[in-house]
Amino acid sequence: MPKEDIEKKVELEIRKREREPRLKDKDLFEVVEEVFDRRTVLAVIELRNRKCLKTLKGVVSAGKEARVYWAKGFNNEDLAVKIYLTVTAEFRKSIWKYIRGDPRYEWIGNLPIHKLMVVWTRKEFSNLKRMHEAGVDVPKPICFYQNVLVMEFIGKDGVRAPLLKEAWEQGLLGEEEAEDIFWKIIENVKRMYWKAGLVHADLSEYNVMLWNGKTYIIDVSQAVRLDHPHAHSFLQRDLYNIYRFFSEDVGIEVPEPDELFKLVVEKSYREVEEE
Ligand code: ATP
Ligand code: MN
Repeated sequence: MPKEDIEKKVELEIRKREREPRLKDKDLFEVVEEVFDRRTVLAVIELRNRKCLKTLKGVVSAGKEARVYWAKGFNNEDLAVKIYLTVTAEFRKSIWKYIRGDPRYEWIGNLPIHKLMVVWTRKEFSNLKRMHEAGVDVPKPICFYQNVLVMEFIGKDGVRAPLLKEAWEQGLLGEEEAEDIFWKIIENVKRMYWKAGLVHADLSEYNVMLWNGKTYIIDVSQAVRLDHPHAHSFLQRDLYNIYRFFSEDVGIEVPEPDELFKLVVEKSYREVEEE
């Protein structure tokens, strides 16, 4: 579609929504979101033109900075679409913890908010890709444009899989399963470290989903490379969070954080595979 046509479609879309905020345009948006600015509408239209997504369906999660949507692709497959909508002062501050010292992203300094979101989206996409290629269980990244990232949907028919935290609260985890899940997470952290050369840096029971007997690690925008000055302290915190959840909330016996840290960093990946 030529650029003028896209502009026209956006205008139309925006005007329609101004008149009737809940109006449904089955072609593209099943949920018409008043939180979308014109840039976001444009980005979604562009991704549709690229045949990357067909229809944006329901909201899966509405966070402070990002929203996650259930979408359908052109082969009727389920997709998850993460859209960064704003950057809060808090987020800007926390971004710095991860950006400073990361040679890939140091230059983003004083970018305006919409550009910062674009960089952050690209960072999440590239981290996902790196992890996925390394064999870490993460949603498969599919494409991105501007502040919109499309990935594999973890769940079915628009119903997302439970987070580790939720599965526990809903009594879905027996002791044996909990132990199995614990070690799957550690194995993924190890693979992320040795094969992808990354540390998640925001790992907890809120950023792990359980689906089909697998643990999916999500929300990887802030992940850092091993040469980041704080990579190892982020890793310690990640492991502590996992340790705390399993030992205190779930109440199973797991190795102490220090031991977990050694388990992850002191053995080569080859050794993990052979164990
Ligand atoms: P929040 O501010 O809400 O925590 P966030 O920036 O932490 O948002 P994510 O953790 O990546 O964003 O995603 C938010 C929620 O969306 C997740 O907790 C999960 O419920 C859902 N979600 C994320 N990715 C997927 C996916 N690929 N498939 C299904 N659901 C997903
Ligand atoms: Mn999250």
